[in-house]
Amino acid sequence: MDILLSALAVEFRNILNIWLSPDDLLAKHTTKAFPDRVSQNPERRSGKVSGNAPNTPEKIKETKNRTVDPEYGEAQGEAREYLESWYMDEDKEMFCQLCQAPQPVVLDRKPYFEAVDCVVGINSHHAENKLALCPNHAAMYRNSGLKPDDVHRLILECNNQRISLNLAGNEVELRFNPQHLRDLRDVLTARNR
Ligand SMILES: [Zn+2]
Repeated sequence: MDILLSALAVEFRNILNIWLSPDDLLAKHTTKAFPDRVSQNPERRSGKVSGNAPNTPEKIKETKNRTVDPEYGEAQGEAREYLESWYMDEDKEMFCQLCQAPQPVVLDRKPYFEAVDCVVGINSHHAENKLALCPNHAAMYRNSGLKPDDVHRLILECNNQRISLNLAGNEVELRFNPQHLRDLRDVLTARNR
């Protein structure tokens, strides 16, 4: 009987989810708090991130039939884990840094997101230089014609974890988890030394 009741409860919840309009879903998502946790030991972490930055493997291009980077798959996996550690909340919902809300696409029962180069043109795989974006915002960010020097400057200058960007005519706000922003600044600063 209990099994039957719990099966009915699941079914009822599924029906309710179908009935939620897109606006309801958005409202449900936008009321959630953006993940703001940081490292317990910021100074030690900062030293570690800065120390690793010069030793991070360079992006390699091998010419076969097409240009491929043999490190890409592994580096991308590491970047995804890194981003999940800062942008996934305790309910396992993954926040998009531009939506600033859990993004709704689910693949294989996991929230789908893209790990996109933040400052484009850096010739090494730094997980810290990736953004967690939903597929729509990933496409917007990649194709917006942002100048890497401008993004670099905004990241070093911003003082509240948010930077304003114009993505192909759309004014948007990119929000960082505080620890991610610190890590990224450490990498950019270490590379400029
Ligand atoms: Zn988004």
